[in-house]
Amino acid sequence: MSRFLSSEQASLKPYVPGEQPQDRQYIKLNTNENPFPPSEEALRRAAEQVRSFELYSDPEARVLRAALAERYQVSPDWVTVGNGSDEVLNMAFLAFVSPERPALFPDITYGFYRVFADVNRLPWREIPLEDDLTVRLDRYAEDRKPHVVFLANPNAPTGIALPAEEIARLARRCPDSLVIVDEAYVDFGAESCVPLTRQLDNLLVIQTFSKSRSMAGARLGYAIGQPQLIADLQSIRYSLNPYNVNSYTQALGIAVLQDEARTRRNCETIIANRGQLAAGLKALGFAVTDSRTNFLFARTLRMNGGVLYQMLKDRGILVRHFNQSRIVQYNRITVGTREQNDALLAAIRDIL
Ligand SMILES: *Cc1c(COP(=O)(O)O)cnc(C)c1O
Repeated sequence: MSRFLSSEQASLKPYVPGEQPQDRQYIKLNTNENPFPPSEEALRRAAEQVRSFELYSDPEARVLRAALAERYQVSPDWVTVGNGSDEVLNMAFLAFVSPERPALFPDITYGFYRVFADVNRLPWREIPLEDDLTVRLDRYAEDRKPHVVFLANPNAPTGIALPAEEIARLARRCPDSLVIVDEAYVDFGAESCVPLTRQLDNLLVIQTFSKSRSMAGARLGYAIGQPQLIADLQSIRYSLNPYNVNSYTQALGIAVLQDEARTRRNCETIIANRGQLAAGLKALGFAVTDSRTNFLFARTLRMNGGVLYQMLKDRGILVRHFNQSRIVQYNRITVGTREQNDALLAAIRDIL
């Protein structure tokens, strides 16, 4: 720490991303990346579209937003984009959270929500998950004050999903609260709230190309909601970085959207692999939550989650362990290819 660091930021606990190690080849099941790359065709179309980088990217991301609008059956002024959905989430904190409307989210959820609130010095409160790790939405309406509710649906790292209609009911019950649904994993078998944004001016959906569309390294996320909400996000975006999505990523996003059949097939393969991996883990005595994502959240009573994480790492397999008291027993395991999943199961069998 230098002597110049703002005293306001001195206590900041930054988000800790999953390891991206360079020391050896691991079977990487720790950051929920998609094991299947974008199509050669999409990569070629994007490279042809963007041959050089001397010009700024389109700050309006017109073609990309039009393609997203068409995909989700809304108009382009219902869509804004960001450098990963992480950036869109940060823009949402800046635009909507305030002392009058503090952020509210579960105690066990995506770790970035707390970090975005803290780095922007915005108030927040956590609501504990139930003992079975589910979200009980009644608790988000209890004190009748307006909030900005952040819900990852499906939730991370539990993988458990709520029905879209339950989230809509919360939004209807709290018309002065804004409900923001982070649907990073929705394509792996959960219900999207996007269609409900038509009726609800206090519902905003945020999605990403990182997981189901295999573009984690290109950084592309987006929000869908009524135009007034999107205009608020756009004004934050133009106040931070109107060129937040580079021209190559815009072109690749457009090309990958033309491959929706492939995206759907990849998701179906991952869902099938998830079922097999869950069955394999259960056969080894693990308890596994009902995941609607591309990862499993699993624990065994025979071994602490941190110990299992380390023993797998020693064998060249990375999973994610969170040092948080309610979930220390668990590991979050990305669903990989059949070969990767089999290697994981073999290693666990060996360890146990
Ligand atoms: C991966 C993830 C994100 C971030 O995705 P990017 O678009 O890569 O920034 C957001 N929310 C949740 C819950 C995630 O798991």
